[in-house]
Amino acid sequence: MPEPVVIATWPFGKLAADTALQLLAKGDPALDAALAGAQAIEDDPTVRSVGFGSLPDRIGRLTLDACVMDGKTLGCGAVAGVEHIRHPAALARRVMEKTPHIFLVGEAAKWFALQQGFPLEFPYTPEAIREWLDKHPDRKKEKPADDKPAAPLTYDSPVDEHNHDTVTVLARDLKGHLGGVCTTSGLAHKLPGRVGDSPIIGAGLYVDDLAGAAGATGVGEEIIRIGGSLFVVEQMRGGKGPQEACELACKRVNAAAGRRGVHPAAVAFIALDPKGAVGSACTARTNFKYAVARGGKTELMQAKEVPPDA
Ligand code: ASP
Repeated sequence: MPEPVVIATWPFGKLAADTALQLLAKGDPALDAALAGAQAIEDDPTVRSVGFGSLPDRIGRLTLDACVMDGKTLGCGAVAGVEHIRHPAALARRVMEKTPHIFLVGEAAKWFALQQGFPLEFPYTPEAIREWLDKHPDRKKEKPADDKPAAPLTYDSPVDEHNHDTVTVLARDLKGHLGGVCTTSGLAHKLPGRVGDSPIIGAGLYVDDLAGAAGATGVGEEIIRIGGSLFVVEQMRGGKGPQEACELACKRVNAAAGRRGVHPAAVAFIALDPKGAVGSACTARTNFKYAVARGGKTELMQAKEVPPDA
């Protein structure tokens, strides 16, 4: 019988991996287990980049993005820019199961959530509000100075690249099927409306029982640019192992940055093949750690960095 395996991004992914492994050991399907793991992180207010308690966008709104994919059927669902819903990954799964579509966004995704019985909730914690106000001191004032309108948002000031991190959970169940979930609040202080890689099937996540599963974290623009997770899965389909597939994706990110004459952004990939082997790699100075759960225990691993000249 295939051994259950889970791989999840970042040290906080340990809770996701533990949670998912327990369910896999009981015989739960890969997607159910990955979703329960991801949801444990969405519910943790100390994780400031996934679910409740995350850092809001530039105008102080917290919007969440998520997607799910089932490796057996290639069924997938996604939501982006969703406010006031605690569990966007579960909502993405409803999109997969209850609609003929794959991707719902913004207000309409919220209406769909309400129709599906999801409660509206207040997602802002005092810590997240305090940190947001520290980054946006002008907005602390009730009224702008001299009653002048507040300065309009500009497109040029970059988001804080350090306040981000997504939980991506990939699982293999006792039947050998693969499932994956990706959920995030995206980049902190992002421009309103900005959507990263995380809810985009093929960028933040791709899962196919016949080839493998892959997920991403890091600066989403660079992951979308190379179609990151699908790229990793297609490398595995072509015979590469999960480790080499992730390293090749990082090389692709580096090459894309080189073509624009910029230093590669922080990006990381994780992968799980149909036999249960795992791999991970990140771009230089990303210092990416991930959790692997199998055989009743979960270990934190350090990903191999792929420098721009590799
Ligand atoms: N990939 C996410 C995004 O760009 C952020 C992250 O994983 O750090 O929205």
